[in-house]
Amino acid sequence: MNDTPSTGGRLVLVATPIGNLGDLSRRALTLLETADAVYCEDTRHSRTLFSAHGVTPRHRLMALHEHNENAASAQVIERVTRGELVVLISDAGTPGISDPGARVVAAVIDAGLVVSSAPGPTAMIAALSISGLPTERFVMEGFLGRKAGERAASYEAWRREERTIIFYESPQRLATSLGELARVFPARRVAVARELTKLHEEVLRGTLADVAVMVAQRPVLGEIVVVLEGAGERARVSDDVVAAALREGLARGLSLRDVVARTVDELGVAHRETYAMALRLRVDDGA
Ligand code: SAM
Repeated sequence: MNDTPSTGGRLVLVATPIGNLGDLSRRALTLLETADAVYCEDTRHSRTLFSAHGVTPRHRLMALHEHNENAASAQVIERVTRGELVVLISDAGTPGISDPGARVVAAVIDAGLVVSSAPGPTAMIAALSISGLPTERFVMEGFLGRKAGERAASYEAWRREERTIIFYESPQRLATSLGELARVFPARRVAVARELTKLHEEVLRGTLADVAVMVAQRPVLGEIVVVLEGAGERARVSDDVVAAALREGLARGLSLRDVVARTVDELGVAHRETYAMALRLRVDDGA
């Protein structure tokens, strides 16, 4: 894509560093300097980045954050329609990735206008790429729910999730979420990446059981991405195998509750469906 302002109006999402200032690309710098308007998640925060790089934007910085994204989108559309080069940045990393941006992008596309990107850092891909876990197929969950019930629903869904799972986590909640996960999937491998590209960059790797203990024993500070192994082979357990395990337990006189809990633990299958199957078997088989 030709980046000179005369090439027609467009919105360009520009990635900025997630820590190390050296990760701002030459192209990003040029776009920031030449744009007709730069929309920032937080203009004060972005000014620090600009002064570190000696960038002087041609115009006043504009705000585009989660509370004004709809109104700001209308302005962006007007500008792009007039032929302006509009740049969008967030506080760190790639705009729209657990950051404002997705709504303005959709609005500009809906208006039949051009959206482009100057790609660069994003914490999720940086963490995945050095996690040591499979990278071919993955799923990004953003931030986990704040309520225990929301997190439990995510974990339940991940029993059958074969792809590598990525989520962002705050240092205050890390010990809780890893402790919960270790109870559900103690043997799955995990990589906890913190302060990527910064002075105190560190990646804790191991089974969930081991890493949860490490995290419980000492504070893990800073910005954090968790990369969790998917279910792999265990998710492909067939209904016949689950039914056989349930029948065997029921035949041994175990309670419905115990036989379901044991089967879920041993086969890594979903609790709700296993419970429903056990109820059906008990009726059908008269067990
Ligand atoms: N747009 C950003 C991106 O592309 O990665 C993500 C923004 S989100 C609001 C901020 C979260 O990203 C942090 O709470 C942390 O989970 C993760 N993050 C950002 N920078 C990081 C870094 N240097 N190391 C580890 N995680 C980071």
